[in-house]
Formats: sequence, structure tokens, C-alpha cells
Amino acid sequence: MAKSIKEILKDIQAGTITRHGLARLIAIATREEFKPVFDESARVCKRHFGNRVYVRGIIEFSNYCRKGCFYCGINKANKTVPRYRLSLEEILAAAAFMKKQGVLTVVLQSGEDPGNDGLVIEAVKRIKNDLNMAVTLSVGERDSKAYREFIKAGADRYLLRIETTDPDLFKKFHPDDDLEYRTKCLYVLKKLGYEVGTGVMVGLPGQSPDSIAGDLLFFRALNPAMVGIGPFLPHQDTPLRNCSNRDIFPTLKTLALIRLLLPMSNLPATTAMGTIDPLGRQQALRIGANVIMPNFTPSAYRENYKLYDNKICVSEEYGKCAACTAGIALAAGKRVVRSKGYSKLTFKGNR
Ligand code: SAM
Repeated sequence: MAKSIKEILKDIQAGTITRHGLARLIAIATREEFKPVFDESARVCKRHFGNRVYVRGIIEFSNYCRKGCFYCGINKANKTVPRYRLSLEEILAAAAFMKKQGVLTVVLQSGEDPGNDGLVIEAVKRIKNDLNMAVTLSVGERDSKAYREFIKAGADRYLLRIETTDPDLFKKFHPDDDLEYRTKCLYVLKKLGYEVGTGVMVGLPGQSPDSIAGDLLFFRALNPAMVGIGPFLPHQDTPLRNCSNRDIFPTLKTLALIRLLLPMSNLPATTAMGTIDPLGRQQALRIGANVIMPNFTPSAYRENYKLYDNKICVSEEYGKCAACTAGIALAAGKRVVRSKGYSKLTFKGNR
């Protein structure tokens, strides 16, 4: 006889959960039936984080990219998007503004362009030395030498989504990438001492509950400090332009299960969640997310960092995202805190 939801939840707690059990939960069709899982993930989040929400300000400092990922609006094959790279001064000004607004962690994100590495290293050094902020990098795949240089410059965290752990899907959407290499990057980053973040997109064409169950087991094995997930959303100038995805529920189910499998990991309520559903981030914070990432990219560049259509916060007045963040947390019954938000898994008390 098939196990009940309660029994599967017990298996998660006991560490005996199977891929099949996770896929069964992911396949649940209604919020009503999934409610016991959401209730439990909300409880686990509260136990570890109370009602605190950590804030990480993102600066999308360059959209140059050497990769051709089929889902991504800034992939190298998209010739319609003007390419940009912020200067060191522009990055520092955005970080300083962020700090003034009470945000103590900077996420520097870009397309994958090793040509930016000198700029990244300078920016990390200056943000650490001049502003004493925590720095997360999200600039893609490199060799261990480059990752070592970034950490030597002072980077604290590295965010590299695995995107999907399903080998067939990965191959299908990444004409010039290799799942094994991307996986290796994550383990190298971890070994070097970064707080590592990874994640996937939910709702990719052809993705099954079993694919997502595989992703969940991958997260459990890697045990990252942070898992950032979001719905796949189509972009008009990519090969996946005609693949629609309108429902946040599969993303929320995945988020809840990550919270149960990795109770202390940092889980952001992402911009893509707020794009697929105007109240997506609030819902995510209610069922297990504990991080929010307002956009501090200077307004003039935001239009050119559209990873998918209708991305929110693109035409927002500069600086508005921080205030908006506090409101989103409040609406979810939580409050943003002024903290660098180091991971409970890796915090050594000396930063
Ligand atoms: N280049 C870096 C890397 O490879 O990790 C970081 C930048 S990349 C543009 C940031 C993230 O955007 C990706 O990890 C991917 O999950 C997400 N993304 C890209 N296109 C997307 C889409 N169409 N829908 C949802 N998320 C998307």
C-alpha cells in the first residue's frame, strides 16, 4: 500500500526518505493535499530562524556571457540585448548605497565572463575593506585557481545553481556546458571554504516529479549553506520562448521539501517567484524561505539583465527595492534584520 503523507514526512525526519517518496510529494496536485507539508516546513523554518528574514542586495554588474543556455535571456546567442559592464566605481557606489539602506550583504552577479575577473577581485577587496560587508559571488563556472583568487580577495559566499540534476534535461538546455563539471565546481567551492549556494529552476519543459526528487537528493548530499530556486520563465529571444509556466505551486512544493531536508539552509524568496505570482515571495516566506534579495543594480542597466520576460523590479525607482523588501516580509508575518546573515552551518564567529 502506498505510504501516507504523514509517513513520508516521518521518513524525511528519520533520513530514510527515498527518491520515490519525494517524487510522490512533488506530484501532489492540490494545495489542500500538500498543506501538512507546508505546515511542517513553516514550523521548521520558524524553529531555526524565528520570524527573521535576511536581506542580500544584488548588483547585476555585467550581462556579458560566454554560455548559450537555452532558457536565459542574456545567453550569448541573444544579439538583441545591449551588453554592459559596470565600472568599479559604479559597483562600489551601489554597494555603499545598499549599506546606507541597512543591507550588509552584497551579491555580485553576472553572466559567465572570465574577462570580468580582475574587476570582480578589485570589487570584492574594496567592498570588504572599505565597507565591511559580506560578499557573495555569482559569476559562473571557473577553475579552482580563479575560485581561490576570489576567496583570497575576501569573497564569503558563492552561488552557482546546478539548474537541474537531470542529465538529459541538463544536456538539452546547455549546448556548451557539462553537468559533471558544474557539479565539480560546487564541491571545489565548498572545499575552498565558501558558503556555497546552489539551486534549480522548477517548471523546465520536460521536468518531471522524479527529476525534482533527484535535485532534492543532490541538495541533501551537497548540504549547501543556501539553496536558491525559482520557476523557469520563458524569454522571448531564447529557444524556449514558447514554453509557458504560470503556476508557482510546484516551486513552493520544492521549496518546502528543501526546508525539511536542509532545515538550517538559507532559502531565498526569489525575484522569479515574485514574477510568476505577484505574491509569490510572500508565499515563499510563509512556507519556509528566510532570505530576500532586493535589486540594487543601477536603474539604467536593469532592462538589459532580463533573464526572462516581465521580470519585476526592472522599472522600479532606484532604492525602492529595499523598502519594498520590508513590506514583503511583514506581509508574511516576518521582519527583515540588519545582519550579514552568515550560515548557521559554517559560521565560525570570527567574521
Ligand atoms: N552566470 C552565473 C551562473 O551561471 O551561475 C549567474 C548568472 S545566471 C543569469 C543566474 C540564474 O538565472 C541562473 O542560475 C538561472 O537559474 C536563472 N535563470 C536564467 N534564465 C532563467 C529563466 N528563463 N527563468 C528563470 N530563471 C532563469
